[in-house]
Amino acid sequence: LLEAPSPQATAPVALSYELFPPRSEAASATLWSTIRQLEATDPDYVSVTYGASGSNHDTALDLVDRIQLETTLRPLAHLTCVGGTPEELTSVVNELLDRGVRGILALRGDAPRSGAPQGALRYAQDLVELIRRAEGRRCAQFAAGKVAIGVAAYPTKHPESPSEGHDVEVLLAKQRSGADFAITQVFFRAEQYGSLVHRARRAGVTIPIIPGIMPFTSLRRIEKLSALSGVAADPALVDRLRSAGDDAAARRIGTDASVRLAQSALEAGAPGLHLYTFNEHAAALEVLGRLDLPRPSRPLLAARHHTAL
Ligand code: FAD
Repeated sequence: LLEAPSPQATAPVALSYELFPPRSEAASATLWSTIRQLEATDPDYVSVTYGASGSNHDTALDLVDRIQLETTLRPLAHLTCVGGTPEELTSVVNELLDRGVRGILALRGDAPRSGAPQGALRYAQDLVELIRRAEGRRCAQFAAGKVAIGVAAYPTKHPESPSEGHDVEVLLAKQRSGADFAITQVFFRAEQYGSLVHRARRAGVTIPIIPGIMPFTSLRRIEKLSALSGVAADPALVDRLRSAGDDAAARRIGTDASVRLAQSALEAGAPGLHLYTFNEHAAALEVLGRLDLPRPSRPLLAARHHTAL
């Protein structure tokens, strides 16, 4: 007897990749070869990071523009508020909307060592509200469509937060201010993602929470990421990578761990996967290729359903 597949097993899941703006001509050439490879997998969108104080404003917007003009991909533009006044940020939001961007990941960013400038927005929640206000003014002026707003979520406590409970309250506040979906920080154990979703749902968060999956290609990369994000690496994985004979063996071990992590998140009901590519397609595509990812025949519909983008 054939059993009918459970709805969860067949429901299409959203797929997205994170890219960062290139810092040189050579890096740009590599990135564009990556973009072409990723494009062939029909993702729902690709996200483009933004410097914490708008440090790479021009290169980020150039990349967003080129993605829109030269590919079939839709960009999700990251925007950070920590270094900007409301006027400056409103101007960047308008710039993005003028360029046709319809998805923004609203983030705080990490404050510069010198501290945030006078009058700067304090929290990502403030940026969500600012984007909704800018959108409202445009809707009143033109027949402008709604902007999809994503926010960050944390499977392990944010380094500055007093508790995981506080993180969930912040996520709920961002939802109430107008966020449509969340993408998680990197995590190493599937239970951390499952626990975040469970706690968030219990607190009243209803938006999709998409796991951010990092291909663990090397110990060096994991250590750098941990230092930047404050997310402690899984000690068992670190041990296994340390005792790998060479780089190729370490890469195999790390990729296996990423595949297992992504698979477990999907089994826990994740509505999509967001792959941190580090501007390299090989590892992201290897992880993707080893997952049996139910993808819709029309990605647009999945994106609307899962991320409203
Ligand atoms: P917030 O949600 O504002 O939270 C920041 C801190 O303030 C937390 O400790 C939170 O608990 C606290 N907090 C928030 N609101 C309140 C409130 N109302 N009352 C009291 N406390 C509050 N950084 C970049 O610079 N560029 C990027 O492109 C970028 N992309 C990212 C993409 C993803 C998917 C993720 C997960 C992170 C990304 N980051 C990026 C990193 C991010 O900027 C940092 O994690 C930053 O420290 C927090 O950003 P946030 O948007 O979560 O801030």
